[in-house]
Amino acid sequence: MDSADAGVRRRDIARRLHRVTDRIDAACAAVGRDPATVRLIAVTKTFPVDDVLHLAALGVTDVGENRDQEAAAKAAAAAAAGARVRWHFVGRLQRNKCRSVAGYADAVHSVDSVRLAAALQEAAHRERDLPLDALVQVSLDGAAGRGGAVLDAAEPDVDLRRVADAVAAAPALRLTGLMAVAPVDWAPEAAFGRLARIVDLVRAEHPTATVVSAGMSGDLEVAVRYGATHVRIGSALLSERAGLR
Ligand SMILES: *Cc1c(COP(=O)(O)O)cnc(C)c1O
Repeated sequence: MDSADAGVRRRDIARRLHRVTDRIDAACAAVGRDPATVRLIAVTKTFPVDDVLHLAALGVTDVGENRDQEAAAKAAAAAAAGARVRWHFVGRLQRNKCRSVAGYADAVHSVDSVRLAAALQEAAHRERDLPLDALVQVSLDGAAGRGGAVLDAAEPDVDLRRVADAVAAAPALRLTGLMAVAPVDWAPEAAFGRLARIVDLVRAEHPTATVVSAGMSGDLEVAVRYGATHVRIGSALLSERAGLR
């Protein structure tokens, strides 16, 4: 990309970033929350590392990715270019990718089984000096196969409380909170309302699990209303096709 194109892209992202932060501010104002209590994670999946550099230059401190191969390459390239951002792994995580992810991620939002918690513990123990922030991903509709631990699951490996306990007991992990994606066929109010009740249940056992990672380009206002502390925004920041990915 030549510098003229880079300038156009940076101004485009700056404009979108402004709109997103306005939306977050308005959503906070509507429920009397301090906007400083909501962190923006820019989800850069499918977009080039140049966009990460633009975001970093515009003051974004947190970026999210959902595939290890893409994330590993982008994290390395961004670091080589001097960008200092925190990397959030927000996608489905296979156990054989844990060592790679533990090497560059600052937080993993998608721990959804006891077995995955054990693999991530092992990986973080080998790869890191400091514990890895880990969030338990909640399946709000309990649908199998789409990711997420389930409240009162029949299967112990994916039972939400057991997964949270496993993360909390893992010395190389730090249970920081919960993450969820609203099911496509649910009203966001129903989804994030249910998440808020589950957050209360988990916090009663794990008071330091304060992070609520919820809300994307299409539903961030509702997520903020129901207590999101981290919103994960991709298309509204980076793509013409807002809400279509
Ligand atoms: C892609 C993605 C997002 C961002 O979604 P947008 O609708 O583009 O804002 C957030 N969370 C996860 C887990 C994602 O995979």
